[in-house]
Amino acid sequence: MLTVNSALHMKSLREFVNPGLRFIFTDIDGTLTEQGRLTSSAYQALWRLHDHGLKVVPVTGRPAGWCELIARQWPVTGVIGENGGFYFRYEDLNAGDGTTGVMRRHYFYNASERADHNRRLDKIRTEILARVPGAAVASDQFCRQMDLAIDYCEDVVRLPPTDVDRIVKIFTDHGANAKVSSIHVNGWFGEYDKLTMCHVFLEREFGMKISDAQTSVAFVGDSPNDEPMFAFFKNSFAVANVKDFVGTMKSLPEYVADQNGGSGFAEVVERILATTQR
Ligand SMILES: [Mg+2]
Repeated sequence: MLTVNSALHMKSLREFVNPGLRFIFTDIDGTLTEQGRLTSSAYQALWRLHDHGLKVVPVTGRPAGWCELIARQWPVTGVIGENGGFYFRYEDLNAGDGTTGVMRRHYFYNASERADHNRRLDKIRTEILARVPGAAVASDQFCRQMDLAIDYCEDVVRLPPTDVDRIVKIFTDHGANAKVSSIHVNGWFGEYDKLTMCHVFLEREFGMKISDAQTSVAFVGDSPNDEPMFAFFKNSFAVANVKDFVGTMKSLPEYVADQNGGSGFAEVVERILATTQR
């Protein structure tokens, strides 16, 4: 029998019917944003999900400092940051009146392990800046706790793919992980990734086994650093700009929106809510 690799084909959103989703995990850059800005349609879509009782959890390479704000201020149930190094969850203990809350921070590695990893990343930083002219440390690096982000096109003139590959190789030659996002190369030490921390989040915060998550969790993303999530989650979506990367990806999402970035995210949310059973 012919085995069809579903990863080679992305379905239209019109083929999706909500199977009873409770959680929407979503990437941020390139998925909620366009030209680097969070769009009004995407932010409104986050509120629509919230108001329909769906739990939204951004999953990003962005730093701890940003995640503090997101967990506290956005209409989300939690946030996974620095490519899965931690999650933050802010709970308002007085049922939404904002007077008493608690921020729960769960890290994959403890503080002394993180300090050791950061010393090793300092050496890699020096080597990359010396060997790849035009690369820079990302401007949000000072907000990071466990990952080194090298900017290849956010605030610097876009580097060619060969330079991006050289940055990745310097990380991996030192035994670090490296993932290319739409703006940075992120490197870190240790055994975590975004998908691993999604599992940890669901189990610790909601007592949910990941094997039970397939019908209740969806993921929305846009690029190769989302591939583990596309591969794992049956209800996986991408915004249209994923098409820029399909040639280099092994795992594609199940469904793709017609529009890019935040507009595409709003389209995904519209379809989820339009096919929700009441
Ligand atoms: Mg992205």
